[in-house]
Amino acid sequence: MTDIVVLGSANMDLVVRQPRLPEPGETMFGSSFATVAGGKGLNQAVAAARAGASVAFLGALGGDEFGATLRATLEADGIDTAGIALVERPTGTAHISVLDGGENAIVVVPDANGVRLPLDDVQRAAIRAARYLAVQFERPLELVAEAVAFARSVGVTTVVTPAPVLELPEGFLEQVDVLVPNAAEARALAGVDDEADAARALSRRAGTVVVTRGARGALVARGGELVTEVPAHPVTPVDTTGAGDTFTGVLVARLALGDTEPAALRAASVAAALATTRPGASPSMPTWSEVAPLLG
Ligand code: ATP
Repeated sequence: MTDIVVLGSANMDLVVRQPRLPEPGETMFGSSFATVAGGKGLNQAVAAARAGASVAFLGALGGDEFGATLRATLEADGIDTAGIALVERPTGTAHISVLDGGENAIVVVPDANGVRLPLDDVQRAAIRAARYLAVQFERPLELVAEAVAFARSVGVTTVVTPAPVLELPEGFLEQVDVLVPNAAEARALAGVDDEADAARALSRRAGTVVVTRGARGALVARGGELVTEVPAHPVTPVDTTGAGDTFTGVLVARLALGDTEPAALRAASVAAALATTRPGASPSMPTWSEVAPLLG
């Protein structure tokens, strides 16, 4: 039995530090370049594995060098990559400009992540063998919806990060056991301006709704009512990229490992805060040996 199967995206992030965005037709110098493993699916899988869970990753990669590097990155964290589909497209990339002043400008080219594949027997077997399925919306929505419906039909708990926000098929939210939007996603999905109202509204349709609110922590709602607030762990952040994926990955991992919901939420909050104190997404994610001593 696997604790968690993640069906999601894997991208190679190509990160350039530059003073500003060039004008159309302009060529300018940047000051540094780095490649970093990314994509919401890969990030959540890495966060969950570092929190101690056994994890299988169902992604789509091209047969290129980036694909091989991403596979090796997953395997270095002990993640099962047998369910990755090799497709006739380049591996997905995210072209990230980090501007002086800290703002990011990002162009994501989904490539392999965007290939429409049906849910195949390998993927069904991997989901059936897991306790939890975690998905995001960086793979085709039809595939994600099929995986969620299949997971529900075989008693696997479903955890959904609705990012990027998309128009959802009828009945989709009702199949979600744990929905983890950030505040902007929650407001957009619920169509309301207030994040607490959004959490209440969404929890009338999904099971448990956890709305992450950056340095303000998270709100939890169930059955149309707010049930708890999770304080943020106080830190001095240097780069918040990947905080949301760390929170979700660690939350699912600790729930799958048998922690109570309050304990899993606290672990998620501490791990996400630690991830903001270091640069990058997956490279900044803490191991359980770093999180556990801070839990008190
Ligand atoms: P990102 O897109 O940057 O990965 P997100 O928008 O998906 O993030 P956030 O709500 O910003 O998600 O952050 C997720 C969680 O990370 C928060 O609920 C909180 O627990 C933790 N977190 C984020 N920023 C901070 C911070 N500045 N200090 C402490 N904890 C933070």
